[in-house]
Amino acid sequence: MILIDGKKTSAEVKADIKQEVEAFKAKGGKTPHLAAILVGNDGASETYVASKVRSCNEVGFDSTLERMGKETTEEELLAKIDEFNKNKDIDGFIVQLPLPSHINEQKVTTAILPEKDVDGFHPVNVGRMALGQPAYISATPYGIIQMLEKYDIDTTGKHCVVIGRSNIVGSPMSILMAKNSKYANCTVTLTHSRTKNLQEYTKSADIVIVALGKPGFLTGEMIKEGATVVDVGITRVPDESKKSGFRIQGDADFESCAEKASYITPVPGGVGLMTVASLMKNTLAAAKKEIYA
Ligand code: NAP
Repeated sequence: MILIDGKKTSAEVKADIKQEVEAFKAKGGKTPHLAAILVGNDGASETYVASKVRSCNEVGFDSTLERMGKETTEEELLAKIDEFNKNKDIDGFIVQLPLPSHINEQKVTTAILPEKDVDGFHPVNVGRMALGQPAYISATPYGIIQMLEKYDIDTTGKHCVVIGRSNIVGSPMSILMAKNSKYANCTVTLTHSRTKNLQEYTKSADIVIVALGKPGFLTGEMIKEGATVVDVGITRVPDESKKSGFRIQGDADFESCAEKASYITPVPGGVGLMTVASLMKNTLAAAKKEIYA
């Protein structure tokens, strides 16, 4: 079994970005600038945003963190988005999800200019990605594709089962894995909570991408010998032995899956780190105007 090391892979990606930033600036380019809007103070969101800001520092980007209280109205948030859309120094920005329930996420996602939507959630970017046109690809699926590429995992003609059909992970992942490209040329089955006999699909899968938010859901019994397991899940599970009072657990039962898998991503130290690295890649592309001129 080979561990797909997100720490090592994301460090390599970020080192490349750092070099590219230096080269871009040496030729008169600007310092890439990523901004993030955080509404409320959800613990997990705080952690994600902090890691994004840290990564900006590592690769030589400017970053702005805009904190807005949990009582922020939809109007106030849309006004802030409008301000960031117009700010010429900000190359790309994200609104950290989830948002408080009184704010319509779809409205917010659509309000960000596609050319600044480095999270790749805007319908224009999702549509362009689906059509194989230049687009910001949402960071988690993009990170997974890069991991498969870095580990040279054979995808051509393989059966990939994606568990979960969310707009930010499962659905775009299933589209990307079916693309006619070297690291995604699979036959794809997209499964969800209404899928009957899920095991029948997972047992025949060469690659299982599990993204449903249920810790330890995918067990070794559900996969075939030699499968590749990509674990997207991040759930905080209460753990009194930890100072924080919780530990992070993925959607795969690591022990039993690792016994049968040929490749597996750990949690933590897997997909999550590549998600942040991919956001940096999208931001660099925004600063260089590689996707939208
Ligand atoms: P989500 O929006 O809650 O969607 C969950 C999906 O799982 C839904 O499509 C749901 O089906 C499906 N599902 C639920 N129970 C199922 C079952 N028993 N069998 C098969 N499918 C089932 O989740 P998400 O936003 O995609 O996130 C999934 C996990 O990934 C979470 O743990 C999240 O924290 C993590 N995540 C990690 C990263 C990262 O960077 N590593 C990024 C994003 C998310 P229905 O559509 O039928 O309800």
